[in-house]
Amino acid sequence: MVITNSSTDKITLFNRNIYIKRDDLLHKDFSGNKARKFHYFLENSFPSIDTIVSFGSNQSNAMYSLSVLAKLKNWNFKYFINHLPSFLKEHPSGNYKYALLNGMELFVDENFKMTKYEQKSNELFIEEGGAIKEASFGIEKLANEIKGWKEKNNIQNLKIFLPSGTGTTALFLQAFLEDEVFTTPCVGDSEYLKYQFSLLEKDESLYPKILNPKKKYHFGKLYNEHFTLWNEIENSTNIEFDLLYDPIGFDTLREHLERFDGCEILYIHQGGILGNETMKERYLRKKGISKE
Ligand SMILES: *Cc1c(COP(=O)(O)O)cnc(C)c1O
Repeated sequence: MVITNSSTDKITLFNRNIYIKRDDLLHKDFSGNKARKFHYFLENSFPSIDTIVSFGSNQSNAMYSLSVLAKLKNWNFKYFINHLPSFLKEHPSGNYKYALLNGMELFVDENFKMTKYEQKSNELFIEEGGAIKEASFGIEKLANEIKGWKEKNNIQNLKIFLPSGTGTTALFLQAFLEDEVFTTPCVGDSEYLKYQFSLLEKDESLYPKILNPKKKYHFGKLYNEHFTLWNEIENSTNIEFDLLYDPIGFDTLREHLERFDGCEILYIHQGGILGNETMKERYLRKKGISKE
């Protein structure tokens, strides 16, 4: 499989021009920032490995991308979760459904702890969400694509924005770019995000700039204002963004737009569209219930 460069679109949003790096379109099966983070494993060979082991949530984008990687490599994929809701078990959808179709072996274990897992020599262990140093390989490629695009289009005063989970993508992107990278925490607060950065990089001067969301959100919880914003953005741009990270991303960008005065903004679309299937169902169910 060959992953080619992703394109860059120009949209108008919040009365501004914003460039969108379309990593959601990298490849039909392997896209978004998880594809960037796992690119290293795709490109290199690992003769002693025949199994990927990972852990995380039952709808994670990383889980789905690892299932694709395992399939491409002809490896087994063992995935541990703490909890499987009976609704999802009976009605598989989104990342969960497609990861199972790719051959993922699922282990539901309330007490599973990554730190306690004893890795075997044939196993490649991937931290939750792909917070791994090997991610820098694919993110350097992303950074180089941005540099090439900037030069070709003679873009001056560029600032980059992307929402963070583990912060791995934002951190490595800043490491490879001279332009300022801004991010916002979608999982936990800014202190937690800095802590996550610190697991991969000790030198704080190399961290991306953190902009705070206007209020505290709980990851994965439904917020009607997010669904509304997400719908508005799709209607006005014709681009489908992800429902977990991007509404917080765009809302925070809008809150801090003055930081980007006189600059060009490049927003990284990090994929995650497959996960929208279940998020949309959840929002519509919630709406149905609240209308009664
Ligand atoms: C995983 C993911 C993120 C967060 O990436 P980190 O590198 O963990 O910060 C953001 N957006 C989407 C769509 C993702 O799948």
